[in-house]
Amino acid sequence: MSGIVNFINNKKFLKNNINNYSRVNFSFYKYFYVKDVIKMKNKFQKCFKKLNIFGRIYISQEGVNVQANILKKFFNKMKKYIYKFDINLNKIYINIGLDNFKQSFFKLKIKIKKKLVSDNLNIDNFYKNYQKKYLNSVQVNDFLNDKSVIFIDVRNYYEYKIGHFKKAISIYSLTFRDQLENIIKYIKTYKKNKIVIYCTGGIRCEKIAYLMNFHGYKKVYQIYGGIIGYVNDCVKKKIPIKFLGKNFVFDFRLYETISKDILSNCHQCNQSSDYYVNCMNNKCNLLFIQCLSCSKIYQSFCSKKCYIEK
Ligand SMILES: [Zn+2]
Ligand SMILES: [Zn+2]
Repeated sequence: MSGIVNFINNKKFLKNNINNYSRVNFSFYKYFYVKDVIKMKNKFQKCFKKLNIFGRIYISQEGVNVQANILKKFFNKMKKYIYKFDINLNKIYINIGLDNFKQSFFKLKIKIKKKLVSDNLNIDNFYKNYQKKYLNSVQVNDFLNDKSVIFIDVRNYYEYKIGHFKKAISIYSLTFRDQLENIIKYIKTYKKNKIVIYCTGGIRCEKIAYLMNFHGYKKVYQIYGGIIGYVNDCVKKKIPIKFLGKNFVFDFRLYETISKDILSNCHQCNQSSDYYVNCMNNKCNLLFIQCLSCSKIYQSFCSKKCYIEK
């Protein structure tokens, strides 16, 4: 739901092509209590129309979810507006879609919805009755050494694949909605254990932690600031960083190398590699891992078939 499908992981490809297109795809979401949804809708409507933004915006009492595109020249202007919509949106992290060949939307639709994600949660209780438990980096490292503590990586599988905490498990899901349901389904056996959940910056965990609590998991912990927060806190406190591999990020850096461990393998030859590519065949567009030698043979195609068909 966070618009994480719009990226491509080939810097050269990007550099050569991004300037050919004048619009940029972007997305962001946040859970926070929206007191007046109509007022919030009007703010988006006014600003987004003025700046000629196309997209799909959901506004709910539990937050906002924005997937859209904008003329590049207006991007910074838009950010300034959004930051002022609500204190909760100040400095909000905006995912920039890197695959900007394909415009994400051609119309502007702003909808008021009961929920950002379809689930059976009572939103009134979401903010009031749940005491969240956050871990700092020292506590995370302690929990990593404790065999009884379960770590769940709640990001997408492709993010997990190139970097995660060693003992973390991934709940394979194609969408956030699936994931919410799958987590509850798959971890029943750990109901009595302490469970640590984490994502890139902590946003997904806000909802998942609440949902788990709702389903009777009483010992759920979130990593403060997600992976990014954890790493920064380790550096600050000069303690060992236990996250392995790369942290997938949704900006032009593509990922941050946290440790030199390579956790994944080339899609084509199985050699260890963690370099993501989107298949250059537009009909395929598969996101896959390709090692350097295969990238010479196949270019940025996932298979000979895609290479020939191009
Ligand atoms: Zn290879
Ligand atoms: Zn392909």
